[in-house]
Amino acid sequence: MALKLFNTLTRSAQEFTPLHGKKVGMYCCGPTVYDFAHIGNWRTFVFADLVRRTLEFSGYDVTHVMNITDVEDKIIKRVREQKTTLREFTGKFETAFLDDLKALGCRQPHQTPRATEHIPEIIALIEKLVARGVAYQAADGSVYFSIEKYRGCGCHYGQLLKLNLDEMRAGERVASDEYEKESIADFALWKAFVPEDGDVTWDSPWGKGRPGWHIECSAMSIKALGETFDLHLGGEDLKFPHHEDEIAQSEGATGKPFVKFWLHGAHLLVEGKKMSKSLGNYFTLRDLVAKGFTAREVRYLLLSAHYRETFNFTLDGLTGAKSALARIDECVSKLRQSANIVGIVQPDQIKLQEQQNACSNMLHDFTDAITNDLNISAAWAVVFEWVRETNKRFKKNNHMANDAASVSLSAWEKVDSVLGVGKQADIEIPEEILSLAKTRLEAKGNRDFKKADAIRDELKAKGWLVEDMPLGFKFKKL
Ligand code: AMP
Ligand code: ZN
Repeated sequence: MALKLFNTLTRSAQEFTPLHGKKVGMYCCGPTVYDFAHIGNWRTFVFADLVRRTLEFSGYDVTHVMNITDVEDKIIKRVREQKTTLREFTGKFETAFLDDLKALGCRQPHQTPRATEHIPEIIALIEKLVARGVAYQAADGSVYFSIEKYRGCGCHYGQLLKLNLDEMRAGERVASDEYEKESIADFALWKAFVPEDGDVTWDSPWGKGRPGWHIECSAMSIKALGETFDLHLGGEDLKFPHHEDEIAQSEGATGKPFVKFWLHGAHLLVEGKKMSKSLGNYFTLRDLVAKGFTAREVRYLLLSAHYRETFNFTLDGLTGAKSALARIDECVSKLRQSANIVGIVQPDQIKLQEQQNACSNMLHDFTDAITNDLNISAAWAVVFEWVRETNKRFKKNNHMANDAASVSLSAWEKVDSVLGVGKQADIEIPEEILSLAKTRLEAKGNRDFKKADAIRDELKAKGWLVEDMPLGFKFKKL
């Protein structure tokens, strides 16, 4: 099944084909480390993880880059307010972010470059733009990107969304990193030092100053993935101005197309409004863990809707996610128990053939769903149908043959390599324990119950409970 993704550049779902064979370069705009990320932010990062996992599931070799924005307007404001240093301030939020990323089951990006460690690359990129005549130093000492000059070279500003450029107020500039569509204007690449910046300043050909937010991502993505790469993603609020400006800076400097596929995730809402720091309507992962939810449950919830659809976050919704996940866990745990039962054949147990069909159907339908622009609702429906069928068999038969359970677990693991909701810890039975249990079974067969009981105690002392089954035994870790 070919992988189809909705490309914001073409406003259509297209077959995903990388630039170089099976290799995929993927860049996701990372966190601005000025506070703990809220679960709206996490919706976007979990979406990025789903994209990566789907690409890997489809056989691609992904290089996943996610930057850390550790210098920008909001950060500098807080560093000043808290009378601390930039590194000390951003360091604690960066660590918290990476911890939460792991807790939420996201695969670690291959590179997590920090903006402050790429100042030479940022300066070199701005120098290129100045040399090509699309950037200029203004009277305030800052360097701006000239939209007019850029368009004059035949370049297209407004690739990700329709902009009414004719209403643009020529000559206007914006110095701040965030601005609205209504104020399309030349934007800052290098911001001249102002006393409020304190120690946060670097030397440059244009004097002391610091980079603008947009140029950071262009410089780091080009360095990590080349001048043209496959896939760039972020939340939908980043389309403008951030991503539009990234395209302008990158294409303005290299003269080459910047990115082949742009993917944007819809927002997580609270009562119809975007979850955001500024509205104060947010929860961090830590807030939810403190309320008794697990990171897996939060991940499940964030993955419950299609990435291009907004959805409302509620605690009731999260409670629903908890019980949905518990249904999967219960089924998987029964499969694990069956796979761990050693040396028994039950006449009425679920046979390999029955489960095999259910598993190959699940894998087929799941692949169809997830490769169709990450149709996650259809993908979950397939999983729950499989859980339902498997539970039905367990109800009828009580036991499942070892091989049938193994096939089922491996099908679930394939599916979970995309969903990433994790599995309950594997019970690995050490060789020594297995051998003791077999000796105990032999002793029982020889009616040497004293020896059998002694071995049972020995196993217990080693932390294993052995339970007798009609034709064998199974283990429980104490
Ligand atoms: P920031 O740390 O503010 O740069 O944001 C990090 C990412 O979170 C960006 O890709 C944003 O688009 C995304 N984001 C912010 N708020 C939300 C939200 N309510 N729902 C989904 N994504 C969001
Ligand atoms: Zn970015």
